[in-house]
Amino acid sequence: PSGKGKRLLQARDITRLHQLEIVRRDFVANVSHEIRTPLTVVHGYVETMQESDTFQGPWKRIIEQMRTQTLRMQRIVEDLLLLSRLETRSSNEGQGIVGVYPMLRGVLEGARQLSGDRGHEILLDADERLRLVGNSHELESAFTNLVYNAVRYTPEQGRIEMRWWLSGSGPCFSVTDSGIGISPEHLPRLTERFYRVDVGRSRESGGTGLGLAIVKHVLTRHDARLVVESEPGKGSIFTCRFPHSRVAS
Ligand code: ADP
Repeated sequence: PSGKGKRLLQARDITRLHQLEIVRRDFVANVSHEIRTPLTVVHGYVETMQESDTFQGPWKRIIEQMRTQTLRMQRIVEDLLLLSRLETRSSNEGQGIVGVYPMLRGVLEGARQLSGDRGHEILLDADERLRLVGNSHELESAFTNLVYNAVRYTPEQGRIEMRWWLSGSGPCFSVTDSGIGISPEHLPRLTERFYRVDVGRSRESGGTGLGLAIVKHVLTRHDARLVVESEPGKGSIFTCRFPHSRVAS
């Protein structure tokens, strides 16, 4: 309402904003794609150098660092490509009935390997019959990111538990860890690309800074949301809440 008996209608042309958003998205996708091949070549040669007897003494350490860094770049590129696929593809693509329990068994196995000799206790408590309508690759990638984060941010001998159950509001997947936790001021920004509480720690443990951004995108495409509860020094709970409509009967 605007004045007596009048109404005001406001319209805003967002064409330019929309186009800029497309340009940004395409640029990130193109750069990532272009970098992928040369990086594979460089990484391949670095591995060959590592296996050869030509490089001795201080070269060994230099080459090992080159290998670690090219591997890190490869992981970043793969995550960026995954994110741009999640942004561009229709969310109906690749949808089917997902057996979450067998998927989580695989994630559990991977998490135990990632933990290695750090002695984490990693447990799975899942409803074997509860299945979901969704894209299995995307869901696996989201669940894996959450579980691997728990391993990476939980000190040795810590406890990590995955749960998959049907709550009153719909299917839920949660990962509880006894790790370093997160202060409340960081929580609202965790799913932003490259947002890290501690950059050094993230890099050291092999993080790309894109894991939770991927989780958020995947969940949005499944009408789900991420809830994070955490206390510094005590641990965190990351919960994915799906609506009832996603239960596969
Ligand atoms: P990264 O590759 O850095 O782990 P993510 O997007 O997966 O990137 O996570 C963003 C940041 O959130 C991390 O850098 C870390 O600071 C914090 N974080 C994520 N998961 C946990 C966790 N389980 N415990 C403590 N901090 C976490």
